[in-house]
Amino acid sequence: MNNELKFYINGSWLESNSVEQIEVLNPATEEVLGKITAGTKEDVDIAVEAATHAFQTYSNFSKDQKIAIFESIIKEYEARLPEMAEVISDEMGAPMWLSNVAQAASGLGHFKTTLNYLKSFEFEKDDDGFTLRKEPIGVVGMITPWNWPINQVSTKVASALAAGCTMVLKPSEISPFCAMLLAEILDSSSLPKGVFNLVNGYGPIVGAALSEHKSIDMMSFTGSTRAGIAVAQASAKNVKRVSQELGGKSANIILDDANIEKAVAAGVSHCFLNSGQSCNAPTRMLVSEANYDLAISVAKEVAEKTIVGDPKDENTRIGPISNKTQYEKILRLIQIGIDEGASLITGGVERPDGLEKGYYVKPTVFADVTNDMTIAKEEIFGPVICLIKYSSEEEAIKIANDTEYGLAGYVQGEISHATEVARQIRAGQITINGGNRENAAPFGGYKMSGNGREHGRIGLEEFLETKAIIAPL
Ligand code: NAD
Repeated sequence: MNNELKFYINGSWLESNSVEQIEVLNPATEEVLGKITAGTKEDVDIAVEAATHAFQTYSNFSKDQKIAIFESIIKEYEARLPEMAEVISDEMGAPMWLSNVAQAASGLGHFKTTLNYLKSFEFEKDDDGFTLRKEPIGVVGMITPWNWPINQVSTKVASALAAGCTMVLKPSEISPFCAMLLAEILDSSSLPKGVFNLVNGYGPIVGAALSEHKSIDMMSFTGSTRAGIAVAQASAKNVKRVSQELGGKSANIILDDANIEKAVAAGVSHCFLNSGQSCNAPTRMLVSEANYDLAISVAKEVAEKTIVGDPKDENTRIGPISNKTQYEKILRLIQIGIDEGASLITGGVERPDGLEKGYYVKPTVFADVTNDMTIAKEEIFGPVICLIKYSSEEEAIKIANDTEYGLAGYVQGEISHATEVARQIRAGQITINGGNRENAAPFGGYKMSGNGREHGRIGLEEFLETKAIIAPL
C-alpha cells in the first residue's frame, strides 16, 4: 500500500500535519507490518468539511444513480477480494480460509445485500393523508473495531451510501489496512469525491473529535461498551443520533430434544471461530443436567482437535489473538476462571505446543461454571467456552437473560420448541440450529449491547430521517 501514512479525504490521499505514527503489528509474528499516522482534530475537521460539501449533491442522488455506484463498487471489490483477505489475515490474524470465505467476503456481501434492499426501497410514499419521506440523516462519523474489521466497516458504509449520507470513517488503529484498501476500492469506483473519507488514529483523539463535531449528524459506532458510552456522551452535546454495536455474552441453550453431540460440537466450534473474537460468539453453553457430562466430553474433544497455528497454514482452524492487550486480557480471565473454582477441562494459560511467537491461546473449555462467575459475566473475546448446567427450561431462559448484554442468542432443538424459547430471550438476534441469513437479518443489541440495528433493510433505515409533508386534503 502506497498511502499508508496518508488519509483519504475528498477523493485524494492527503498528508496530515501530525508526526505521530502508530505501528501495526502482525499478531502471528509480533513483527511490524506497517505504520499509520495518528490523526488529529484538524484532520477530522478537514474530512468533515469534505463530507459536508459532498452531502449537498450526494443526498439528492436518485436511486438509479446510487444503484450504478453500488454496481461499480461491487465490481472493484470483487477484483480485489483475494487482496482484501490477505490484508485482513496479516493485520488481525484470521486464518486464510476464514479471511477468504467470511472476513473479506462479508464486506462484499454487505454491498450486495444492501444493493438488493436499495432497489426496492421506497424513499417517498403516500401515507394516511400525507406524504412520508425518508431522507439521508446527513454526515455520519463511523468508528470500528479490529475483530471483523471490513465486515463492520462495510455494513456501515453500504447502508449510509444507500441512504444518501456522506461519511468520515475512523477504523481501528489495530487493523486499519483493510479499511484503507476499501478506500482504494471506493476511489476506483464511480463514487463522487468527498462522499467517503477516512482518518486514522486513536479513539480518544480522532474518535472523540468525530463524536464531538458539530457538523456530524450521526455517529455509528462498533466496539466495546466502554468506548460506546464515551461516544454517546460526547455526541449528546449536539443531539446526534448514535447507533452503538457493543459487546455480548451470548447464551447457547441446548434443549433436550436437540441432537446433543452435533449441537455441542457445532456450538463449541462456533465459539472458537475467529479465535473467539466475535461480539456475538456463543460463549455460555447451557446444557441440562441429563446431558451435561456428554456435553463436557464432546466439548473437550472439539477443543483438543481445534488446530491453532499460523494463519497461512491451510490446516489452521484458528489463528492468533489480534493484539497483545487482548491476548493478555484473555489469559487473565482464564486464570480468574481457575481461581474462582470453575473446572478447567482443557486449554489454559500455557502457550499452545510449538508456537513460541505470536499471540496464541489454547482453545479452552470450562465446566461447572455458574452464572455469577467472572468468566460467565465478562466478555472474554477469546477461544474460551463456559459450560453451565440448568435443571429446567425456565432456569435456562433465566440464565440466558441474566447478563448485562443482549446482542445474540442461540437455541438448539426441535424448531417450534426452539422458536418458543427464542421468543423469551432478550437479545437482538437469535439463531436456531445454525440458521444462516446474518447479512440480511437485523443485527444489534438489547441492554448494554447497544442501540440500533445494522444489516439489510433495517440497517439502511438507521441512516434516514423521517419527514411528513402535510397538505390540505
Ligand atoms: P474498542 O472499543 O477499544 O475500540 C473500538 C473502536 O473505538 C476503535 O476504533 C477505537 O479506536 C475506538 N475508540 C476507543 N476509545 C474511544 C473513545 N473514547 N472515543 C471514540 N472512539 C474510541 O473495542 P475493540 O477492542 O476494538 O473491539 C472489541 C469490542 O468490540 C468488543 O467489546 C466487541 O464485543 C465489540 N464488538 C461489537 C460488535 C457488534 O456489532 N456489537 C462487533 C464487533 C466488536
